Amino acid sequence: MKNDSVSLTIDGKPVQVPAGTALLLAAKANNIDIPTLCYHPELKPEGHCRLCVVEIGTAPRTRLVNSCTYPAEPGLVVQTASAKVLASRRMVLELLLAQAPAGEHLKEMAAAMGVHETRFKKGDPAARCILCAQCVRTCREVVGVSAISMAFRTPKKRVATPFAEQSEACIGCGSCVFICPTNTIAYTEKDGIRTVWGRKFELQPCNKCGNYIAPKAQLEHWAKLTGDPVESFYVCKDCR
Ligand code: SF4
Repeated sequence: MKNDSVSLTIDGKPVQVPAGTALLLAAKANNIDIPTLCYHPELKPEGHCRLCVVEIGTAPRTRLVNSCTYPAEPGLVVQTASAKVLASRRMVLELLLAQAPAGEHLKEMAAAMGVHETRFKKGDPAARCILCAQCVRTCREVVGVSAISMAFRTPKKRVATPFAEQSEACIGCGSCVFICPTNTIAYTEKDGIRTVWGRKFELQPCNKCGNYIAPKAQLEHWAKLTGDPVESFYVCKDCR
């Protein structure tokens, strides 16, 4: 065994993975699929959906943990589809089906796990947000502005700007829209104006071809990050 590897057991199968590997990825590397709705390879896992729970330990001392955040440990015994795990996942799916009745991917995933209905009171029939927080994490980790966050507690939990008002921090980049797996975030572009999170952003046209590049606020953000004059971003990548 390499020094930086750990040996553990997943669903009865002895496996070796680099120390610190999240159980979700350790399982995946060994062809064991664990369902998840919030994991994204480019974002720090935070265990938002709780669908990826697995049972660790040996009876009677076992517990459920989020496999996306729990690291592989030497000698760990992991079950990815025990009765406890499946019951927990079904509960999570029922809660999400009530939260996002219009979530098609969610419904398909739930049906594949034998969950076709929810015992919980359904919210807005058009709601699709599965509270994966990919938008929030992208805004914070990738864009670096934290214009949105998860607000309120279940069952009112949702993504919002601070105090549900127009966020001064938002640069209108649309990264949250792009990453959202459920197409939930309202976004329009018309006549050189992009509207997202209730705020209007003027788009900067390319100095050479005239095509819109990005919101002026986003280019100003880039200028601040790089120290370059904002005008240096007024040419689109095709005309550079
Ligand atoms: S808006 Fe989209 S990305 Fe954000 S939490 Fe909801 S489903 Fe996830």
